[in-house]
Amino acid sequence: MIPESHPRYKSLLSRDKIVNAYKSGILADSGMIAHGRGEAFDYLIGEKTTETAEKAIEATAAALILAKNPVISVNGNTTALVTEHVIKLAEILDAKIEINLFYRTPERVKTIYKFLKEHGAGEILGTENENFKHIEGIDSPRGKVSPEGMYNADVILVPLEDGDRTEALVKTGKFVIAVDLNPLSRTAKTASLTIVDNITRAMPCLIDKANKLKDKNPDELKKLIDNFNNINNLKKSLKIMLNSINEFDKD
Ligand code: ATP
Ligand code: MG
Repeated sequence: MIPESHPRYKSLLSRDKIVNAYKSGILADSGMIAHGRGEAFDYLIGEKTTETAEKAIEATAAALILAKNPVISVNGNTTALVTEHVIKLAEILDAKIEINLFYRTPERVKTIYKFLKEHGAGEILGTENENFKHIEGIDSPRGKVSPEGMYNADVILVPLEDGDRTEALVKTGKFVIAVDLNPLSRTAKTASLTIVDNITRAMPCLIDKANKLKDKNPDELKKLIDNFNNINNLKKSLKIMLNSINEFDKD
């Protein structure tokens, strides 16, 4: 048990979830490495949701609300850290949940499916019982997508995605939203919209924004998306990180 008084309580809690997810087969070993990289960038951004990230989250909520067929893609890290939030967001938006894994094995798919179901998820796409379609430009089996889900989606939320898959999905004309603490990753740069924030903070904030914006008129929502510039937003996030280094250097 991690005491709540511990100064790194939240971070240690996430680590605990990641380790348990690895032990139960939800997470591949490399998922732990990806988490560690995220932690390093989180330290630099001050372990909080910045105003810059909040703008990206707001535009994300708008895009998902306006979408005809929104899909939330889940992998091991997402399942380990924010399963409840994924399910809640899918409910609010009437979005589909699709399992898509970098290191895909039938066992891991089954374990994640079971975990999502135990937490109250409705329909889950991307399991082994589908006639998968293939996204061009991605090596099999990572390019396997559900015909009802990602293949037909207009807006996809892909938390913690890999760069080449993001690029291939964008090339198909879809609006691809990534959550990535590294503003320099290929994912962050190639996504249509990137939230530079920890998924554990971004998801509750996204649920909040989705609830607030749900009944706004479409023109207002469209404006939020049109006014958002991904590269400028990434540069702002990077500046916040660089400033945190410069501030320390001054003392
Ligand atoms: P790319 O393929 O986009 O160039 P990469 O190969 O460096 O990126 P991956 O291993 O594909 O990175 O994906 C891990 C990414 O997820 C890292 O950029 C890391 O910063 C980010 N990440 C890890 N944990 C979290 C988290 N909890 N919240 C947000 N981002 C995270
Ligand atoms: Mg990668």
